[in-house]
Amino acid sequence: MIKINDLYVEYQVNKGIFGGKQTIHAVNGVTLEIKKGEILALAGESGCGKSTLAKSILQLEPVKSGSITYEAQDLRKFAQMVFQNPYASLNPKMKIGDILREPLEINTDYSKEKINELVKEKIKLVGLDESCLELYPHEFSGGQRQRIAIARALMLNPEFILADEPVSALDVSIQAQIINLIKELKENFGLTFLLITHDMSVIKYLADRTAVMYLGEIVEIGKTEDIFANPLHPYTKALLGAVPKINQKDKKVLLKGDLPSPADLPKGCKFHTRCPRVMEKCKTCPPCEVGASHIVKCFLYC
Ligand code: SF4
Repeated sequence: MIKINDLYVEYQVNKGIFGGKQTIHAVNGVTLEIKKGEILALAGESGCGKSTLAKSILQLEPVKSGSITYEAQDLRKFAQMVFQNPYASLNPKMKIGDILREPLEINTDYSKEKINELVKEKIKLVGLDESCLELYPHEFSGGQRQRIAIARALMLNPEFILADEPVSALDVSIQAQIINLIKELKENFGLTFLLITHDMSVIKYLADRTAVMYLGEIVEIGKTEDIFANPLHPYTKALLGAVPKINQKDKKVLLKGDLPSPADLPKGCKFHTRCPRVMEKCKTCPPCEVGASHIVKCFLYC
């Protein structure tokens, strides 16, 4: 459905009080396919390039090189985004009905009646009542607002939804409702999702495939069940080690140090400054990629 080929994204930021600019290398040679009807999760720490990659897929971030190919002509109708913070993503001065009508009024020539009918259909689809349409965003809980944000994303019948940390701003008690809603939308309507999250338990429950990202590179990708049963890359092992488990028997791999600055990328394997298995060659040469359906980028396997 979407093919990303050798994508690089970088941008300039101010250096600070000493002046000058520095280049942030946010995405560094990502090649990835998002398949129709799947939930592909993008995992990794904050600052690893997940959100920049997502924005570049929606053409919200200019790319330096590489390509993104879509199975669609009109990106606005094909793809929509659900943001992390449902408190900031809905206009507080607009009634919910107006928020949901807006995408149809701008992008279609439907009659007023048809638009109202579709708005009612979508608000019901996300588990809310028609009476919500006359209320303002502040009259809803975080979970209800995220349902409204999902309804707005569905208004133009997109095939692909990019969900950027869709539950991390919500109370744990209501996270499950939104997670289940995403699962239902995928199963009942065949929607395709790119799910960006640092929460490995959300990924385990929702995602068909998982890509692990570190400093702008995909270091491991495969079926979610394979990634969780048999993580290969030391970084993936560390991410999974951070998820609390009852009766933990195996030794945890813990990450040392902080994520290096994407303005000053390490040479060789970008993970070598924090890797518990680092070898001399890792410090100078970029590792190869091995595997077919479960791919890993690490010298331990080549
Ligand atoms: Fe660690 Fe070397 Fe593998 Fe990089 S290539 S993850 S430094 S063992």
